[in-house]
Amino acid sequence: MSNQTTYEFKTEAKQLLNLMINSVYSQKEIFLRELISNASDALDKLRFASLTDENLRKLTDDLYIRLTPDKENHTLTIYDNGIGMNHDDIINYIGTIAKSGTGEFAEMLKKANEAKEKAPELIGQFGVGFYSSYMVADKVELISRKAGEEQAWKWTSTGEGSYTLEEATRSTQGTSVILHLKETDKEDEEAQDFTEEWVLKSIVKKYSDFVAYPIKMQVSHTHIERDENGKPKEGAKEETVVEDETLNSMKAIWLRPEKEVKDEEYKDFYRHLSHDWNDPLKWISFKAEGVSSEFTSLIFIPSKPGFDLFMPDSKRGINLYVKRVFIMNDCEDLIPDYLRFVKGVVDSEDLSLNISREILQHDRQIQTIRKTVVKKTLDALKKLYKEDRDKYIEFWKQFGQVIKEGLFKEPENKDKIFDCCLFQSTISPTDYYSISEYIERMKPEQDAIYFLTGESREVLENSPHLEAFKEKGYEVLLLTDPVDEVWVQYCTEYKDKKLKSAANTSLELGSEEERKKTTETLKKKEEEWKSLLDLIQNKLDKYIKTVKLSSRMSTSAACLVCEQGQLTPHLEALLKASGKEVQATKRTLELNPTHPLMSKMFELFTTDKNSPKLADYAELLYAQALLAEGGQIPDPASFNKKVAELMVGAL
Ligand code: ADP
Repeated sequence: MSNQTTYEFKTEAKQLLNLMINSVYSQKEIFLRELISNASDALDKLRFASLTDENLRKLTDDLYIRLTPDKENHTLTIYDNGIGMNHDDIINYIGTIAKSGTGEFAEMLKKANEAKEKAPELIGQFGVGFYSSYMVADKVELISRKAGEEQAWKWTSTGEGSYTLEEATRSTQGTSVILHLKETDKEDEEAQDFTEEWVLKSIVKKYSDFVAYPIKMQVSHTHIERDENGKPKEGAKEETVVEDETLNSMKAIWLRPEKEVKDEEYKDFYRHLSHDWNDPLKWISFKAEGVSSEFTSLIFIPSKPGFDLFMPDSKRGINLYVKRVFIMNDCEDLIPDYLRFVKGVVDSEDLSLNISREILQHDRQIQTIRKTVVKKTLDALKKLYKEDRDKYIEFWKQFGQVIKEGLFKEPENKDKIFDCCLFQSTISPTDYYSISEYIERMKPEQDAIYFLTGESREVLENSPHLEAFKEKGYEVLLLTDPVDEVWVQYCTEYKDKKLKSAANTSLELGSEEERKKTTETLKKKEEEWKSLLDLIQNKLDKYIKTVKLSSRMSTSAACLVCEQGQLTPHLEALLKASGKEVQATKRTLELNPTHPLMSKMFELFTTDKNSPKLADYAELLYAQALLAEGGQIPDPASFNKKVAELMVGAL
């Protein structure tokens, strides 16, 4: 055709197509689920658009998907009369992969393909959709007409670097995908024949039975006239009747009693919803009947995170239906951000069919539904930890960072979210524990939950801040995710227990009596050493807020501590790394009066309070405190020089 234009695929799309063409994935039949899913989404979109567009409403009377196998030409067509695409849509949606993370995904898939392993799992995490056609076809044509527009467009590609786009005609809105099935598969005995009626029927039953629109196909039945004994009548000829058959039951799986639905059906529905090919970790099916709202819901918790879990443009949300009528997918208002990995359906009995995305946010009923969905999800997570600890720990390692966002984003649910959180702590190098397990292990006189935040477990474990805790046998939670730095600023309590940083200024451990005694001893010592402490303060004034003696350490000489609410050095580093301007905060330098270094320093001070060595030692103490917490010293060259001088002096 004269007006045919050739376009190059974007690099990432090319990589992905190449991998699909050469895929070693054995379950090639899932291409059909992907295309039916796209068709069903397109029908959903048209229905949704018609709620607010009078002109589109007349197009929604008979929405369906049709499969047309053609044995002679060895093709399979997947037709829908949904929203359709225009010229630009095709370029944007089919010619490009707009999804974030495609590059990384293609790279991983390539490696897996080379090693001939685990590709399905990876494909599942990403959900390649339309491109999976190239597992079974060596040429794909797509003819589409956008609802409300006249011009149709035809897209053609063999998946090898480029595609063409030209004007076409089509009598209805919607899309047809025509797969030219691989000829090589004809000779392959193990390959399925996707022009075979029974093959298509069984794939649809297996993966797409619950699709809410009819999936039609012309099915041929042979028919012969029979006598009363069921034998063919004499002279009767076999006739072949071709009839339209709907291949799927279209039953809304969330409305069926749970015990009547097979696990496989739930899993397939999850894959349809989420485009994730892995099995879900858990699902919860429930009906909520309140005064103000009644709804049914089916919620899935995934077992593996998608590539986009931490990307701002990731798809999130739950599909919303009103009395079985699809309203919208990925409704973000039904689930908070910190549960963005949750997929599912909410089917409301009393929302208006005309509800729009704009008013959702402020709708009281939506708020009520969201609250229930959150509660059910958090309860399920807590229960899962009790029932299958190992499984939950695996889940936590992948999703924990996201869930912890809830601790500061949804303060009203803080304790409930805490109940789902797991933590590493000083009592085991690898294991994870819930907050209630920590509380059970607390010493009788211990009145707070202690934690320490930082860059890595290794740094934290060697931190001088932990010394007093080790001596007392107190467990400390070790928090190393960036998000930990944020929530600890907001959550200072769990139920009736205070949460305190082990690197905080106001730290006092032990029984009341012990504390009193320690305070007195320190006070006395501080009075005795006042002039020395003043000298140290003077020398380090630009770095520290104050200097004081403390009982926190047993083996180290010095450490730095924060005041409640002050930026920790780790948070400071994180903010800087994200491009934020932060003012360095001055912390308190705590010194260990029982350390020989301190008594020696005091000796020197008493004999010669003008010794230049004292100033050097002050700086070295500060540098030591920084290094112990994995920090950077302000002037490494000067530090090196001073250490070298000390060594020479000592030798
Ligand atoms: P996904 O469905 O995960 O977004 P696909 O690669 O399968 O990824 O499809 C990319 C996009 O192309 C879809 O998001 C949709 O906008 C569009 N698309 C695909 N198939 C159809 C169809 N049958 N009708 C309308 N749009 C479609």
